[in-house]
Amino acid sequence: MKFDEYRIAEGIKTSISKLGYKKPTDIQFKSIPPILKGEDVLAIAQTGTGKTAAYAIPVLHTLQERKIKGRPDGVKCLVMVPTHELALQTEAVFKTLGKHTRITPFAIHGGVDQDPQIEQLNKGVDVLIATPGRMFDLVSQGALLLKRVEILVLDEADHMLDLGFIKDIRDLMQHLPRKRQTLFFSATIDEKIKKIAYSLVTNPIRIQISPKDPVAKNIEHAVASIEMDDKRFFLERIVKDNPDKKILVFVRTRVRAERVKKAMERVGVVSNAIHSDKLQQEREQMMQDFRTGTLKVLIATDVSARGIDIPDVEYVINYDLPETPEHYVHRVGRTGRGTRKGQAISFCSEEEKEQLLKIENQLGKPIQRLTISRLDYSQTVESSNENESDDWQSLLDQEEAFNKSRKKKKKNIKK
Ligand code: AMP
Repeated sequence: MKFDEYRIAEGIKTSISKLGYKKPTDIQFKSIPPILKGEDVLAIAQTGTGKTAAYAIPVLHTLQERKIKGRPDGVKCLVMVPTHELALQTEAVFKTLGKHTRITPFAIHGGVDQDPQIEQLNKGVDVLIATPGRMFDLVSQGALLLKRVEILVLDEADHMLDLGFIKDIRDLMQHLPRKRQTLFFSATIDEKIKKIAYSLVTNPIRIQISPKDPVAKNIEHAVASIEMDDKRFFLERIVKDNPDKKILVFVRTRVRAERVKKAMERVGVVSNAIHSDKLQQEREQMMQDFRTGTLKVLIATDVSARGIDIPDVEYVINYDLPETPEHYVHRVGRTGRGTRKGQAISFCSEEEKEQLLKIENQLGKPIQRLTISRLDYSQTVESSNENESDDWQSLLDQEEAFNKSRKKKKKNIKK
């Protein structure tokens, strides 16, 4: 099934393809058609399964179809979420997916001035994403009318109940039309949630999704924001902090592999670089050294790493982010083989952020962020053993030397 095959507005399809979504996730596959038909839905789905788009896509389409041109007509869809962050995140999903529609999404939450929110409500909002507290304030002041709501979405309902919003949800029903479509999403289900869910929905379609994760459970993987020119200092630190561990470092190109190896040499770290410019015999020797543990740090490109199956690689470092999500899964899968535990850290520079987003989209969930404090960041850079030889000229010289040696090697092979 592809998004193209759905009967949804072209503008929404354009946004879906811009986001890089190739095909619907499980929850999307199961919930888009009934939501489009106007049915109530009761879905058990965790964050990371693509559940936001699972309701945002059909809601946007339905409202777009029904909307009379240019007439602000009150809130048509109310999305209730438990937290401020989720409200903003959900608003962003509606905005992105609805970019080429006439639908206006808007998020309200507490902790900020309410006047600009009232102003926006008066201008016209089609999809209102709200946390319970601020929403009730506005309703009780008469600044928010919910009489025209046609679709009610309760997202992360279990979390909402944990936070004590159960009474608020019950009260909310008095302000909503009885005839409406209700979409109920929860990550977990128990008797309490079942009871409240069934009090809200009518003949719902029930959907249950188990979390899908292409990265094995025994691999802890995270990403850290590190600028391109600082990456070597962080690699140096990880290696020095883990002297006994086997570390596999992935880089984008052969030239980068050699460059990182040189940078490590400068700070007294022994490593080797495996890539397609190396002779087969050299590559085999390197693999053997890495396997036995004589070599602790191996720097590799994706191609050269294809056959690497070393049981006890404790760390994978994505020194450069991979080109594709498949490569990501493949790379981090070099650690945590079988039932062993493994760790993978990706260094993501400003320029690679878009790539990261693509990878996360494909994985169906965000990758955990490692926060490095400013102090820690600058200390890592400053405490490096690297001396003044890291100026641009010396990097250029190294590259030239590397290219020369490559040419020489090729000549020797031809002979
Ligand atoms: P959610 O479960 O709504 O928090 O979504 C988790 C992640 O999945 C978000 O980063 C979405 O951008 C991404 N996502 C949603 N739908 C798809 C899809 N069909 N293909 C790829 N990624 C998706």
